[in-house]
Formats: sequence, C-alpha cells, structure tokens
Amino acid sequence: MSSYSSSAEFDALVHKTISSGTFIDGNWVASTSDAGLPAISPATGQLIGLVPETALKELDSAVAAARAATKSWARLTPRDRSEYLIALADRLLDDTENLAALEALNSGHPISTVAGEVKSGADRLKFFAGAGRLLEGRSAGEYTQGYTSIIRREPIGVAGLITPWNYPLLTALTKLSPALAAGNTAVLKPSEQTPLTTLRLVELAREILPPGVLNVVTGRGEILGAAMAAHPDIDIISLTGGTSTGKTVARIAADSLKHVHLELGGKAPAIVLKDADPQEVAEALKWASFWNAGQDCSAAVRVIVSQEIYEPLVEALIVSVSALRVGDPLNSETQMGPLTFEGHRNNVEGYLNRAIDSGANVLLGGNRIGSQGFYLEPTILTNVTQESEIVQQEVFGPVVTVQSVSDDHEAIRLANGVEYGLGASIFTRDVDAAFEASRQLEFGTVWINDHGAVTAEMPWGGFKKSGYGKERSVYSLEEFTQIKHIMLRLPQDE
Ligand code: NDP
Repeated sequence: MSSYSSSAEFDALVHKTISSGTFIDGNWVASTSDAGLPAISPATGQLIGLVPETALKELDSAVAAARAATKSWARLTPRDRSEYLIALADRLLDDTENLAALEALNSGHPISTVAGEVKSGADRLKFFAGAGRLLEGRSAGEYTQGYTSIIRREPIGVAGLITPWNYPLLTALTKLSPALAAGNTAVLKPSEQTPLTTLRLVELAREILPPGVLNVVTGRGEILGAAMAAHPDIDIISLTGGTSTGKTVARIAADSLKHVHLELGGKAPAIVLKDADPQEVAEALKWASFWNAGQDCSAAVRVIVSQEIYEPLVEALIVSVSALRVGDPLNSETQMGPLTFEGHRNNVEGYLNRAIDSGANVLLGGNRIGSQGFYLEPTILTNVTQESEIVQQEVFGPVVTVQSVSDDHEAIRLANGVEYGLGASIFTRDVDAAFEASRQLEFGTVWINDHGAVTAEMPWGGFKKSGYGKERSVYSLEEFTQIKHIMLRLPQDE
C-alpha cells in the first residue's frame, strides 16, 4: 500500500471530498435532500461514506447557473477560454497523487495506472484548449450574386454531461474539455457509484473557472440523470453509458428536442490471423482484455483466432494472463483490481455461470478471489457459440471468449456478428489482409497489431448500437457546436 493512501492526511481528504456534494455557481451547496449515496470501497466492500444527493430543485438551480454563465463564457475569446483549460490541466497534474488515490479507493483502479488517467485527462484539456482556438466554418464567399456568406460554429449552450463509473475522472474530462473549449457551460453528473474524483476535480476547478461554467450534481441515474435528459433548459446531453441507458436518454431528450451525443457499450473482437506471433499477441491481449478488470468499452473480449494457431495462442494466453497481479488497488504492485461494485460483480458472475451451464469451457479463472471486496479472476472461456449470450452481450468484466475460425472471411463475419461497433483489432503481418479487414470491420476504431491505444487527436465513437457522435479529436468540437450561416447583402453595383 502506498504510504500516502493509508495516512491521516488522505483520510481527511476523503472525508472532505465525500461530504461536498452539489456544486452550483462556484459554490458547494448543502443538499436539501435527506438521502445520501453510499460510496463503497470495491476492495473491501466497506462503506467509505455517504455523498449528499442533489435534490431535483437543486438541479434547476445548477442549470440556471449554467445558463446565466453562457453569455460571458461564450463571449470570451477562444484564447481566453484556452488559458482557463490549460490552468485546470496543470492544477490536475499537480494533484495527481490525490486524484489517483481517490480513484483507486472508490473505483478500484490500480493506483499504478491511475496517474496515467490523470495525465490523459489533462492532455485532453490541453488538446481542446488548442483545438478550440480554431473552430472551423468550412467556407465563406459569394455563392449567389450580390451576397457574401460566412459560416460560424457557435456553442450550443448548456451541456448536460452524464458519465459512467468505469473511468469517472477521465470521462468527465473527455466531455468537459470540448464542451467548455467550444464555449458551452456544463452541468456534470458522475455515476452514483464513483463520484469522488469528479468532486475532487470540481474542488480544483473552483479555484480556476468562473462561477457557473462548471456545475456538478450527484444522484441516481434513473432520477437525476433522467431529469437532466428531460430538462427544458439543457441544450445538449452527452452520455457515456450502457446501450439501454442510451436509448432511454434519447427517448426522454426527444421531448425537448435537445442535441444528444451517445457513447455506449462495446463488445470488441481481436482477430488473430495465422501468421501472427502468439506470444506477442498474448502479451498485448493481457492488457487489452483485462485492463481495468475488463470494465472498458473497448476491451478485447472476443478473441477470434485462425485454427492454425489456436493451440499456441491459447497456451500463450494462459501464461501471459496468469502472470497478472490481481489485488488491492491501493498497492502500487497491483495490475488488476476488483470490479467496481457488488451488483456489477454479481452481473458478471451471472453471465459466466450461464455460459458454463451452456457448455463453455473455463480455460482460466472463473472464480471469486478472497472473501472481501468484489474480485473476480481473469477468466478465459472456450467452446462458445457465436449466438450464445456470452459472445453477444456486453459483460464488462474480466471475461474473454476465444473462438477458432477456418479462414479470414469467417473471422470478419464473427467479428461483425454482434450489435455493437465500437472498437476492433486485427493481428497479422500481412498488410493486404490487415487493410482488407479494417475496411470490412463495422467498428468506429480498428487497430492493427495492437488493441486499445488512444490519443486525444483522434476520434472515438461507435457504429451500430455503440452510439453516435464522436469524442476526442476536432470531431468532438462539432458535437458541442452548431453551425450558423450569416448572409450579407453586398452594396449593389451601379
Ligand atoms: P449506465 O448506463 O448504467 O450509466 C451511465 C450513466 O448514466 C451513469 O451516470 C448513470 O447514473 C446514468 N444513468 C443511468 N440510468 C439513467 C437514466 N435513465 N437516465 C439518465 N441517466 C442515467 O452505464 P454504466 O455506468 O454501467 O457504465 C458502463 C457502460 O458504459 C458500459 O455499457 C460501457 O460500455 C459504456 N461505456 C462506453 C464508453 C464509450 O466510449 N463508448 C466508455 C465507457 C463506458 P448512475 O450510475 O448514478 O445510475
């Protein structure tokens, strides 16, 4: 265990963070609701504390504060807004130790990996600080006699940002960065399961952002999240969450015709062709499949392998994955922590047990670890059919299936044969096969000879039931802007 995360100083930070709750117009606001949201340590199952729950009338105040701040924030020059975002990024980096320990405590991410999440989040702020300074209106000129046209990209207004529990801080920053850079203000709701790093982010932003630009509400998705989707004065909802939540949010948001941006579930395939190196692939998949205990929308959870190298790949996977150090997320040696909450661990076990009942073979893992916390072993299943629940549904845990195929066409057919389309990969030394596969794969991102690498400059988003709209990259600025055409009548010639 890191000495800091077990200190009285850390206990005081946890206590202060957990009791903060709702943030409106630059101030922490005492909630009028009697209810509290239990924050649980996934490593122990113990209660960390109760987070105050935002009442619906406080949501109205948060939206009103965001609305009031839109004019002054939108009228700043992009450069002025960028300076705020860069200052926030630097403040987060200075606070990495606190943020990492809070995320490890509340979400169960290994503390050795969370510093990287803080760094990526700060990098997203810095990228959008720059990209927001050059919002593109594609053309300007005289398209009809006697008129000049200009295209402007303008902010949409108040952005409602709803984030999931799997990467709480990183997803908050992924959404906030383009929203604020483009001149919108925000009302942000973290998942009720993992609010701590979002609350810490706000405490840091409080010293930097003007009042009303960032407001935070804490509460249950079905109540507070749904109220955000319905709110008449929120102009855009950006949700990262499950596909069924996405459908619900889109339905609710339709009544007020607000913009909707949905980053939803995934069921990523990793295709391994016969010429790939089994050891290299296994080492790559150890991370791509089990990073954050598989609670990752792009996790490589369906390994689809040419029958010629099925046996060597499976043997190499067992060796690589068995070496993962699973344990206390606050221990700096740990590589894989627990699942983030008990109900989710139970869901994952349900999928696993039904798969085994249907004939799946457990090649590795399959059991809980220890008697406290929500740990599951990294698990590899074989002998699964394409139609089975375990192959078709998003499990969102440390469970990987391996399917053998007789040729490349079958590999593509199985890879595409699910309703999700977020990320996919292919491992091969054959450039033609790799490019042909990347053309045919129905996924928003395709990796060749790797799986899971991301960067702020490149777009991220789903095909099919994985949602619509893009995050990261300049395309994400398009989600948070609307296009205006200005047409000027020119002085008439004599
Ligand atoms: P959920 O869909 O359960 O929740 C996501 C967010 O939506 C939470 O803040 C939740 O609040 C809120 N929410 C729940 N119900 C409603 C509702 N009826 N109206 C409005 N908001 C609601 O997803 P999880 O938190 O379980 O996250 C896992 C899912 O997110 C997976 O499917 C995963 O694939 C997907 N995901 C997608 C990513 C992508 O980039 N495409 C990235 C990361 C995750 P609360 O938790 O308080 O109930």
